[in-house]
Amino acid sequence: MIDEIAVERVRLFCPEDHWQEEVDVDVVRYADPDGGLWEYFSIDGEPVMSPYTPDGRPLCPVCGRTTAVDLLRRRLVPVPDGGRLRSRWEDRPQRAEAWLRQAPMEQDRA
Ligand SMILES: [Zn+2]
Repeated sequence: MIDEIAVERVRLFCPEDHWQEEVDVDVVRYADPDGGLWEYFSIDGEPVMSPYTPDGRPLCPVCGRTTAVDLLRRRLVPVPDGGRLRSRWEDRPQRAEAWLRQAPMEQDRA
C-alpha cells in the first residue's frame, strides 16, 4: 500500500561547481506487508531512478564527473484513500468477547 507521497526539491551539482540544477522529484513510498519500504521516483510523470543514488544523477555537462545531490526541502502530499471514511482500529470495542457466528453447514439446514 502507498505509505507516503512527497515532492522533494533537490539540487544536483558538480562537485567542482561547474554546473547545478534544481529539480522537483515526486516520491511515492510503499509499505509491503512484511514491513519493507520501497520508494518510486518520477520527474514530470516520468519514472526515474533515485537521485540519491549515483546512477540516478546526471554527469556534469562540463567535466563529466558524477554529480552530487542536496535535498533542499520536501512537501508531503495527502495520500488518496478513495474518499472512504476511515476509523482507527483502536476505536473498536473488545473483540475477544464477541460471539463468533458460524456459517451453517449444508447438512444442518434440512
Ligand atoms: Zn563539473
